[in-house]
Amino acid sequence: DVTCRYVHGIGAVQGGAVLVSFQDITHLEQAGQMRRDFVANVSHELRTPLTALMGFIETLRGAAKDDPVARDRFLAIMEGEASRMNRLVGDLLSLNRVESEERVRPKEQVNLTRTLEDTLHSLKPLAEEQQLTLNLSAPETPVTVTGDPDQLRQVFTNLVENAIKYGGSGGRVDVLLSASDRDPAVRSAAARVQVIDKGPGIDPVHLPRLTERFYRADNHRSRQLGGTGLGLAIVKHIVNRHRGRLRVESTLGQGAVFTVILPQ
Ligand code: ADP
Repeated sequence: DVTCRYVHGIGAVQGGAVLVSFQDITHLEQAGQMRRDFVANVSHELRTPLTALMGFIETLRGAAKDDPVARDRFLAIMEGEASRMNRLVGDLLSLNRVESEERVRPKEQVNLTRTLEDTLHSLKPLAEEQQLTLNLSAPETPVTVTGDPDQLRQVFTNLVENAIKYGGSGGRVDVLLSASDRDPAVRSAAARVQVIDKGPGIDPVHLPRLTERFYRADNHRSRQLGGTGLGLAIVKHIVNRHRGRLRVESTLGQGAVFTVILPQ
């Protein structure tokens, strides 16, 4: 159905011949639709905690006004809702920044071994809350790549945080760093990082869409754990910016493996 998908661009008469050029607007329509979906999603995600906050304010003014115990409980819930909004806005800003920089290749030398050590160190308290051990296995000599140190740290923070949040029942999260000479997925691959958990895993039907903004394999669990649904979208854009590859493998009941391959 060419008529629906293409718009008549320029028509001009030149020496008796008619020049007509066609411009494909399919991608423009898709971009417009994606933007509308995104705005609808963001509005919905912000409205949910806002509605809760407004409800609690009402209650604090009324029924709970003279009940200090109820008041404290409600204030704690309100704090949780406000920090959910704060996380969402923070992730939206990160995503925006990462997307705008995607065409500019980062140039710094990054010591991946150190980056992973730091990441695991700062996530240790979260892992301990879940009675999880975080284990890093890396070659003795430090592995380095060209990249953006803060963004790479964000990639591994998001992946390990997810492994802790969703794979918490598995007792351990393993992070494997290797300096691969060559990986068929990326020419002259320099490094491969795998984040492995032994949790419930992800149903394969979700895998192709997992890095879309606000896509959640388990909506209820993600929200319960305070997820924004943007973590993997941010990861994907950062990995793209580094001309790397992100791979997700999972078997239900046996955990998940997230692999990041970075070129030299
Ligand atoms: P969220 O903020 O919801 O965690 P993400 O973009 O980080 O958003 O992840 C998207 C979804 O992928 C999550 O909601 C969750 O359903 C699923 N997911 C991510 N990592 C794992 C994992 N290690 N095990 C199981 N499910 C996972």
